[in-house]
Amino acid sequence: MQNNIGQPKICIACGTQYPSKVVPEYCTICKEDRQYIPPEEGQKWATHNQLLKAHSNRILKVKDRIYELKMVPSFAIG
Ligand SMILES: [Zn+2]
Repeated sequence: MQNNIGQPKICIACGTQYPSKVVPEYCTICKEDRQYIPPEEGQKWATHNQLLKAHSNRILKVKDRIYELKMVPSFAIG
């Protein structure tokens, strides 16, 4: 198991990453009036290593020189 102490934290709701030394109690983006902190779960954080365990990136060629990059399964705002 990897140690997640000192790693940047990523807001589960919006995907914003904060350096480990300045992680606020609540995500600055989600706390803003136009966004929201998930009412049932509250503020949740993940690390890059935690996301790697459950997610991967999919690259799909849409047409010549145009590609779609997507995290699977979907994460945060999507
Ligand atoms: Zn957020």
